[in-house]
Amino acid sequence: MDSKLKSQPTIFIIFGGTGDLNARKLAPALYNLYLEHWLPEQFAIVGTGRTKLTDDDFRERLHKDIDQFSRSGKAKAEQWDSFAPHVHYYPADVQNADTYQIFGEHIKELESEWQQPANVIYYLAVAPNFFPIIAENLAKAGLTADAERTRIVIEKPIGHDLESAKELNALLGRIFQEKQIYRIDHYLGKETVQNIMAFRFANAIMEPLWNRNYIEHVQISVTEQLGVGDRLGYYDGSGALRDMIQNHLLQLLCIVAMEPPVSFTAEEVRARKVDVLRAMRRFTPESVRDMAVRGQYGPGWIEGQQVPGYRQEAEQQGVNPQSNTETFAAVKFFVDNWRWQGVPFYLRTGKRLHRTASVITIQFKEVPHSIFPSSMMDTQRQNRLIISIQPEMSIRLQVQAKRPGVDMVLNAVDMVFDYKGTYVAQAPEAYETLLLDVLLGDQTLFMRGDQVEEAWDLVMPILTSWQNRVSQNFPNYSADSWGPEVAEALIAKDGFHWFTLPLHDK
Ligand code: NAP
Repeated sequence: MDSKLKSQPTIFIIFGGTGDLNARKLAPALYNLYLEHWLPEQFAIVGTGRTKLTDDDFRERLHKDIDQFSRSGKAKAEQWDSFAPHVHYYPADVQNADTYQIFGEHIKELESEWQQPANVIYYLAVAPNFFPIIAENLAKAGLTADAERTRIVIEKPIGHDLESAKELNALLGRIFQEKQIYRIDHYLGKETVQNIMAFRFANAIMEPLWNRNYIEHVQISVTEQLGVGDRLGYYDGSGALRDMIQNHLLQLLCIVAMEPPVSFTAEEVRARKVDVLRAMRRFTPESVRDMAVRGQYGPGWIEGQQVPGYRQEAEQQGVNPQSNTETFAAVKFFVDNWRWQGVPFYLRTGKRLHRTASVITIQFKEVPHSIFPSSMMDTQRQNRLIISIQPEMSIRLQVQAKRPGVDMVLNAVDMVFDYKGTYVAQAPEAYETLLLDVLLGDQTLFMRGDQVEEAWDLVMPILTSWQNRVSQNFPNYSADSWGPEVAEALIAKDGFHWFTLPLHDK
């Protein structure tokens, strides 16, 4: 436990305290941080929402949520009893300016009880249309002035397009300094994602190979077996490109493609990531057709269960049954700099696919000259580095090796670093890592405003093109597939294919 942190009283005010995000992620993460002694001695969690609840009602709700969703399992009575008194609740409508006076009074009460000023973290776990009004009302109530002690955390989506992201950043920028703003992309809190930086920048053997001279292409796949489900109302206004590629997948690409930072500090790491986005080749309306494809799932079967298509789900939920929203997107990107010139980065994501997995694959070039005749090759595969983010957490290097036996026959084998096999300790949830970083005031794993805007700037031509062209062939992939045929064609025309997941299967 950081001794500086221990002595810094902290108040978390969670807007959207009664919502799904708090139930499934924030409350369990805070509880686990508490169990592992990461929270300060004096801390308070103040939930708020319109639902009328007492402190005890709210504690009871969180207790159930933690029992259900915490990675550490059901809360033990003694530990819960010591945690619960730190939890409070205020029923309030965020649109009501008086609400904020009440928060101000509560902060003062806690500070006078603790006899020292507290850090205050405002966590906006509410729909994004409330971000501006909450930020403005906090400022009007004088609750944001201390830039050293107050922080605001916002969730994706950060804007709906470039213009709205700029507006939001400008509004937040008028109220907060950048060092107070924590834009969460929970992918960045995942152990395996953080490990890419360790792998790249703490090992001498990677850097010489990590460029266009040795790498042929890169694939980043984030696939989900689940459909959109009851989030369809929200999702229909978003789609796979906005919901996944603009943020999570481009963040992964940045970590793979970034230059080595001078040091592992927030400003250095974030600046190198923005450099990648700035170097990425912009799309024209013509190149969008060539480099970006979309899909929408139809009905089908998954693991013996019949599942409806996206449009049927839309109809059931009162959304346009002819929806043009994509549930799958695949895009080919280029990073136009010395390191990556000419190396394609293929990104794909989709719902209702054959398997849930997040995997980055770096495919190295062929050997310049093979001394082994094809008769000696049982399997022949170019070297691949496979970084599995979830559900498997591993890094595999695929190499050619001699198969045991009297004859000389080669096949592809994996050199594996597997979290489960290497470490006994359970990996923390991404939200634990990220909430602790907010407490510590460390912004390394959070998105800077300009980074979000660059990512929007990059995808805007695709969004505009897709909005202007109604897809004639939706639905174009069935449940339990790997997506539409156009996605295969996108990569096949370059002579490659999508690697099936999990990739270590032969
Ligand atoms: P949700 O379950 O719909 O919860 C929304 C929350 O907002 C509820 O606590 C609701 O409380 C509160 N709220 C709505 N109107 C309010 C008002 N006028 N005044 C005060 N409180 C109000 O949504 P969610 O899934 O938790 O998502 C919250 C945010 O996190 C969204 O921006 C979402 O995109 C983002 N996010 C969520 C997840 C996730 O896993 N759920 C993941 C990534 C990002 P009352 O009903 O009590 O008023």
